Amino acid sequence: MVEKNPRVRGRFAPTPSGRMHLGNVFSALVAWLSARAAGGTVVLRIEDLDPRAQSRERADTLMGDLEWLGLTWDEGPFFQSERAGVYQEALDRLAGAGLTYPCFCSRAELHAATAPHASDGTPVYAGTCRDLSADEVVRRSAERPPATRLRVPEADDPAGTVEFRDLAYGPRREVLARECGDFLVRRSDGVVAYQLAVVVDDALMGVTQVVRGRDLLGSCARQIYLGRLLGHPAPQYGHVPLLVAPDGRRLSKRDRDLDLGVLRERGVAPERIVGALAAAAGLVDGGTGLTPTELVASFSWERIAAHRDDVVVDEAFLARLG
Ligand SMILES: [Zn+2]
Repeated sequence: MVEKNPRVRGRFAPTPSGRMHLGNVFSALVAWLSARAAGGTVVLRIEDLDPRAQSRERADTLMGDLEWLGLTWDEGPFFQSERAGVYQEALDRLAGAGLTYPCFCSRAELHAATAPHASDGTPVYAGTCRDLSADEVVRRSAERPPATRLRVPEADDPAGTVEFRDLAYGPRREVLARECGDFLVRRSDGVVAYQLAVVVDDALMGVTQVVRGRDLLGSCARQIYLGRLLGHPAPQYGHVPLLVAPDGRRLSKRDRDLDLGVLRERGVAPERIVGALAAAAGLVDGGTGLTPTELVASFSWERIAAHRDDVVVDEAFLARLG
């Protein structure tokens, strides 16, 4: 089913902005199973870059929830909020190679109705600040602090085309100039961009396998490209379907009734949650109570790929929670 390879290093990389919801648990479960089935290692990284997410108490609760579910890790926790130095080093290298430039565009300018939009709805950067003169940069820096963007090759330059194979969603090909344009590596408030932090961390933590929600599939090309510039080999990517409400809306932190705080308070057993998610992912046929360990032997990416449509959290699903 899954070939043994103890060099596989997977990771959990949650953001402690609140309690985990079932969608987060699903990604963590598949990441754990994929690494454990190979006999590999799991690294835990707390993605608390944003000052609003830097709550040690919430991070502790999150780790408690993972342990309660039986999703153990071997290394970490590593906190992104403590790693500013390694991110700055990467930013300095990119700047030293002339690959970045300051961007002064406001949110409103970036979201102008005329801007072309990528498949995920985010605007493709028009290159407004690409060629500002040094004088202009000095003058505008006095008005507002700039963000930092990474220059991507023109659409007809093969260097800006990224191809990879996702373990569930198959072969993917993206032309950066069309999909996102020059993208942010540092925000105007000084916080390093998610894309850069993830690439630096995965490389330094020796992560070989990135398993996460399908909403991040569109980030892969940017991350692979950044990794190339920084001299890091691309990890293997496996994305998992999202959990959606019966009306098709994606579950989020707003669905408080399905977060682990509420489910635990209601007395729902961890085995019920794991069993319901495993059944929805096609890993078992209608299982009710299961531990992650009991699922290792039957795990395969072929099964995940065969059930890659979004998982609808309907009455039948909720009934499995008991
Ligand atoms: Zn700009």
